[in-house]
Formats: sequence, structure tokens, C-alpha cells
Amino acid sequence: MSEFKLEAIKCKNCGSGLMVEINDFVTYCKNCGSGFEIVNGMLQPIEVNFAQPARPAEGEIVYKPFWILKTNVTILERTSSGGFLKNLFGGHDGAGGAIKFYIPAFRLPVDNMREMASAFTIKDPVASPQKFNVKVTGFTYGREDALKIAEFLLISFEAEKSDTMKTFRYDIKVDSYEILGIPFYKLSNGTMRDAIIGLSV
Ligand SMILES: [Zn+2]
Repeated sequence: MSEFKLEAIKCKNCGSGLMVEINDFVTYCKNCGSGFEIVNGMLQPIEVNFAQPARPAEGEIVYKPFWILKTNVTILERTSSGGFLKNLFGGHDGAGGAIKFYIPAFRLPVDNMREMASAFTIKDPVASPQKFNVKVTGFTYGREDALKIAEFLLISFEAEKSDTMKTFRYDIKVDSYEILGIPFYKLSNGTMRDAIIGLSV
């Protein structure tokens, strides 16, 4: 992006002013609960929801954005036993099923990104996200990044507990991209801990 224009952006549904921070590519209307992805300066509707804190209060809460990718994965060929995917799909080639990936959309060190994405994806801990009147900002990774990270996770799930993986071919279809705001507690030492699973970053 060569230029940044400060513009008053209004919600396409209710006309309220929207908060957009520099480089954010998604904005959420606190007034009516509409979400918009900013694509080439245009507002495209996207589902934005929030998770309720599940752990006891430890400090001030901030909401950080995750991509939720609802996917269908087909295992075309594999020569490893696999861990997570075998449990999920059964051990045969041609097996497959639905995976809901939770991919942090905010900037994280790579090790935290991997830990957080895999823990949330395996646990799938947010059954009924809701509309909250809160702000969510700090979007760094777009949907293409999110899909790449999801595929990386898929391969790492398959490779886990297997020292003999030679072949793994798969097909992944993304049914939908959504945004989920996950609550984090701001800790006094300057780090954050998510209020769902309890991972520190
Ligand atoms: Zn609105």
C-alpha cells in the first residue's frame, strides 16, 4: 500500500462511524454488530463475533481477532500414521471431514502463533460466539495468510507422532471465513493471557 488516507468510514448498514486503525483490514460496527473486510478500499460484509471469557478475571480485557476458517479436508494420500487427523477422520486414504481452524489475525511471534492456533483448533472451545459491544483492532494477517497458516497446521498435525511421514496429499476447501474476537487479560508484566484456554503471549 503506497498511501494511507484518513477517511471517515461509515457503517454500510446503520451509518455509524467506524473505527479503523492504520493497516486494519477488518472493521466492526459496535452499534449494529456488522463486520466489514476492507478490500481495495471497499467494505465487504464479513461475520464478526466474540467469545465470552471462560477463565476467572485476571485484569483488563482486550479482544484480539482470530480468523475462523470452516473447512473441509480430504486426505488424498498418506503413508504416515498421523495423530490428530487419524483420530478425527479415521486412518484411510480418501478419508476427510470438517475442521474449524482458529488462526490468530494479530501479530504474534511464530512460536506463539503455532501454539495458539493449534491449541484453539484442536479444542474448538467457542461453541456459541456472540455480538458484543466492544472494539477489536490489530488485524495483521489477511485471509490468504490465514489459509497458509491453516495448511501449515494441517501438515504439522499429520506429522505429529510420526517419524516416518513420506507422503501426505490433501485437498482443503474453505467454506467460510469469519472473524472471532477472543478475550485476553492484560497482565501486569506487560504480557497477555487468553481468557478461554489460558495461553500467555
Ligand atoms: Zn452499523
